[in-house]
Amino acid sequence: MSYLELSGLQKRYRDSVAVDDVSLSVEQGEAVALLGPSGCGKTTTLRMLAGLVDPDRGAIHLDGTEITRLPAHRRNMGYVFQSYALFPHLSVARNVGFGLEERGVNKAEIARQVTEALALVRLAGLDGRRPRELSGGQQQRVALARALVIRPAVLLLDESLSNLDAKLRDTMRHEIRSIQRSLGITTLFVTHDQVEALTMCDRIAVMNRGRIAQIGSPEDIYERPATRFVAEFVGRANALPATRNAEGHAVLWGQALPVKAPASGEFDLFVRPQRMRIVPVSEPVADGMARVTGRVLRSVFVGDHVEVLLEGAGGQLTIETQSGSAALPEGAEVAVIWQARDTLSFARETP
Ligand code: ATP
Repeated sequence: MSYLELSGLQKRYRDSVAVDDVSLSVEQGEAVALLGPSGCGKTTTLRMLAGLVDPDRGAIHLDGTEITRLPAHRRNMGYVFQSYALFPHLSVARNVGFGLEERGVNKAEIARQVTEALALVRLAGLDGRRPRELSGGQQQRVALARALVIRPAVLLLDESLSNLDAKLRDTMRHEIRSIQRSLGITTLFVTHDQVEALTMCDRIAVMNRGRIAQIGSPEDIYERPATRFVAEFVGRANALPATRNAEGHAVLWGQALPVKAPASGEFDLFVRPQRMRIVPVSEPVADGMARVTGRVLRSVFVGDHVEVLLEGAGGQLTIETQSGSAALPEGAEVAVIWQARDTLSFARETP
């Protein structure tokens, strides 16, 4: 059994199943992201772990002990809420020391541990401030220090970066990840932000409609999505309706590709826009490359890349080309090439 085991967790509300048979094994020191669209059951899963929501079915084990029905305060889990939930009338130091006070730790020891926790989150010296006298990022750090100071067995973070601006979010991502690593603290965090999931964890559990669609390393999830949902939700992808020819190859926009088609049924090819390149129509096709041709509908400089929308015989696709390349004239006839092995195929969605 792993350090933290979720087995067959289920939670129903009156008219819906919020979490449906979720099982997940987390090793000690591991950081796992629960990633998925709004309403897929991420927060409910996290709250069941924290003891804030009772599961209808299933079990939770921590370090070999079943904790499914244990009250929240006896679980030794640090929870950072999306809203931070700081006490507005208490100083930063009292906010951070709150969990220690509750546990009856003596004053001198609380002061020592609070100072240590504040240093860890780079807030040394702000002990006396009230939450309202802090920026969003600083409040976030106080909430993190408060969760960490009790030395929890597991750290739970609920969309805790979503109230920060893009730049600060980026900084905090790296800081939280480095604190998590240096303390070796087992962490589960909930996010609908794929960059957050890809950069902050060892493994991602992608959730959809109350279930786990795929669990794997960030690279697995991005490079080898197991389902159409994962391919579309994590990273950008062109979903291109294709057909098969007599040799069993995929045919896209009237052109046979060196890509094996599924044996039966309607299907779409998935290719990431960054994996595609634009070349002159006259350029010969190298071995192992897939190629279609089309006309540039739109070409936009987006700072670090140029985004090109191309229209061909069977539809449209988007290409992201590297920085340095100039925008292409609209109407230009071009070829798009990519490594055939970068092509995924999934059965057409049934409505
Ligand atoms: P978000 O990213 O929007 O927070 P989420 O993935 O965390 O979404 P949950 O909050 O776990 O999703 O909710 C999952 C489903 O359960 C949703 O359909 C939600 O409406 C429903 N739900 C959650 N809490 C309750 C509740 N207390 N009563 C009734 N339904 C609920």
